[in-house]
Amino acid sequence: MNRYWSKSIAGLDPYTPGEQPQDHAYIKLNTNENPYPPSPAIAKVIRDYEIDQLRRYPDPESSALIESLAAYQGVDRNQVFVGNGSDEVLAHAFQAFFRQDYPILFPDISYSFYPVYCKLYQIDYQQPALDEAFCINIQDYASSNGGIIIPNPNAPTGIALETGAIRELLADNPESVVIIDEAYVDYGAESACQLIPEFPNLLVVQTFSKSRSLAGLRLGYALGHEDLIEALQRVKNSFNSYPINRLTSAIAMAAIADEDYFQDCRKRVIASRERLSTELQRLGFEVFPSSSNFVLVRHPGHAAESLYSELKASGILVRYFNKARIDNCVRISIGSDDECNALIAALSEIIG
Ligand SMILES: *Cc1c(COP(=O)(O)O)cnc(C)c1O
Repeated sequence: MNRYWSKSIAGLDPYTPGEQPQDHAYIKLNTNENPYPPSPAIAKVIRDYEIDQLRRYPDPESSALIESLAAYQGVDRNQVFVGNGSDEVLAHAFQAFFRQDYPILFPDISYSFYPVYCKLYQIDYQQPALDEAFCINIQDYASSNGGIIIPNPNAPTGIALETGAIRELLADNPESVVIIDEAYVDYGAESACQLIPEFPNLLVVQTFSKSRSLAGLRLGYALGHEDLIEALQRVKNSFNSYPINRLTSAIAMAAIADEDYFQDCRKRVIASRERLSTELQRLGFEVFPSSSNFVLVRHPGHAAESLYSELKASGILVRYFNKARIDNCVRISIGSDDECNALIAALSEIIG
């Protein structure tokens, strides 16, 4: 602890992102990035960009981007909030909604950023356990709580909830904000967006990082009742007036407009996931049923940590979590077909 630090800083427990090593050209199957490049329409936006515009601050309300997201998602413009990555949107949402008298709830196996935000904003939390098959049991979320957050599909399990279960969760918890983190929804789950008109306590969060191949752009957004969106704007306008830069807005709008390319990439990843799952099962892996762009797997004869290290030694990065209940699993992001083939070849060697 440095003597210049505020007291609260010493007590934080920051998130550790997946490795992004610069030393070596790994096959990166560890951070759920998209194996395909962003829409080719983006190259033109960047090429034609009028550089002089960068002299000026961007629109603090990101109106043009919000209009295009609202039109795309079929909601009103005052039901959309944008931020610098969905991680920023989530952080604002924790601050805006979750500092309550009761603890908030999220699954014991879930996105490991949630407890980090809780520590940052001094929010108590409880973590109902997933069942043996790593599924969420909605009944576990019926007790008094200060809010609920669930990724759908869940990460790092990849398992999706049905819209009926989310509806039940929302109806059971009218006093709490329920956040559905849909970082991976485009790979096979049904979006809870359709429930927004019915439930003023629902906030849906999505990102351009995964299914739109734009992790480097940093853009995420939330959809929900206008009163929830207004709360997020209050936090944002007390933190950073301009989280979305001019180029990000222009690039994101081009990505939204290129629906064919988006659908094509999304379907290719889903097809590769199904093929990879079959091949992993053939090697003796148990593969949890994934609706996302990664698979969580375990092997009865091989410890996950050594699989991770041996794959790394052969130039392939996957994600290992040293965490109760999943420390015998590795999470593998779906790569291109060549990358998946290289993974299967390396695993065949290791497993023999
Ligand atoms: C990747 C991920 C995010 C963060 O996405 P960014 O928009 O890149 O900040 C949020 N939630 C979950 C569950 C994720 O896996």
